Amino acid sequence: MLGWEHLTVNSLGHLAIGGRDTLALAEEYGTPLFVMSEEAIRENCRLYRRSIERFYGGNGLAAYASKAFCCKAICRMVQEEGLGLDVVSAGELYTAKAADFPMDKVIFHGSNKTAEELTMALEYGVGRIVADNLTELRTLDALAAAKGTTAPVMLRVKPGIDAHTHEFIRTGQIDSKFGFALETGEALAAVKLALGSKNLRLIGLHCHIGSQIFEIDPFCLAVKVMLEFMGLICRETGAVLGELNLGGGFGIRYIAENDPVAYDRYMEKVAAVVRDCCKKLGFPAPFLLLEPGRSIVGAAGITLYQVGSVKTIPGIRTYVSVDGGMGDNPRYALYQADYTFLAAARAGEPKTQTVTVAGKYCESGDLLGENVSLQEVAPGEILAVLATGAYNYSMASNYNRNPRPPVVLVGEKGDRVIIRRESLEDLIRNDSD
Ligand SMILES: *Cc1c(COP(=O)(O)O)cnc(C)c1O
Repeated sequence: MLGWEHLTVNSLGHLAIGGRDTLALAEEYGTPLFVMSEEAIRENCRLYRRSIERFYGGNGLAAYASKAFCCKAICRMVQEEGLGLDVVSAGELYTAKAADFPMDKVIFHGSNKTAEELTMALEYGVGRIVADNLTELRTLDALAAAKGTTAPVMLRVKPGIDAHTHEFIRTGQIDSKFGFALETGEALAAVKLALGSKNLRLIGLHCHIGSQIFEIDPFCLAVKVMLEFMGLICRETGAVLGELNLGGGFGIRYIAENDPVAYDRYMEKVAAVVRDCCKKLGFPAPFLLLEPGRSIVGAAGITLYQVGSVKTIPGIRTYVSVDGGMGDNPRYALYQADYTFLAAARAGEPKTQTVTVAGKYCESGDLLGENVSLQEVAPGEILAVLATGAYNYSMASNYNRNPRPPVVLVGEKGDRVIIRRESLEDLIRNDSD
């Protein structure tokens, strides 16, 4: 009824997640509180796995982009569901290691990895390091040489597709901090450098065309551009690269109007384009990698806040203030991200007012939504924000020295805290006297 399968309205009229009453959860764990549905996360992982099996003969791997939400518990779930894992920092890599994630299924990204991070990746035996620039390729070659090993590399290529324009277009798009440009010859130069480096093993190419994308066509175009480039590489160097990584970016439902593409349809179409292109190019179909982040965890999570003041400025607007804000969810302050808000105690009732939801941080821009519709709420009641599972906790800060909220996972075996609430003591842990 709400469009999110793991969210329901129970017999008391309360919002429930994974069958658990959100008012009871707020009572038990306090607010602000992140709650995630284990079933939703696992089901999303399975959808990716199944669609690769069904439409591409299992000749691929979906790797969860952990920057969307990273902790040991999610690494374990992702592993149990048979996915790989994307990391972009020593911290994410360390978390994966702490969760005993199989390192051969880890992909290490980043536009400016440090020598320490690259060393760590080599020592851990990370399966794929996605190089972003020539400096990094040279550093990696030298580090691998010093260790007497060979680094498995992929190259991040800018295919020049802007999926965010209304009519997505093939643009120059050289102006991005990520990756090697195709049209300048930079990407081909990087391929040649990698192929000629004794301690680098070039296994394929990577591209990532954006995030929160609702169409399939930009991905199909990316496939064509990348495979044509792989064909060119073959003609120029004789090397047949075996892997193509198409990145992430699949959109999710934040508001009712959002209409996400079913992964099955995505995979069906993309796999057909891959096969078709490879046939034309006389090229073996590559092992395909996908890197969903948002679409694995985003809709699976919600945030529960307690309403503090409700301030109506006559003729202007009503501010509903909550006990969190930009510290646990900076996405509205950063880029006016859309969200759906519900009074948790009256989740099934019509929304009768238009309000601005404000946080408790000392910034005028600390808002979670403006002119959003909501049921009546009074101070002390619980406000739910939907689809906060991705890029919320992972972007959270301690601004104003507010402790970060806990994350509770609800599942068939009951609920459990997967990240505990920070204490005031935690906040001064690294302070010197
Ligand atoms: C951010 C990112 C992803 C995940 O993107 P989503 O939009 O969360 O699916 C995947 N791959 C790379 C390289 C990224 O930078």
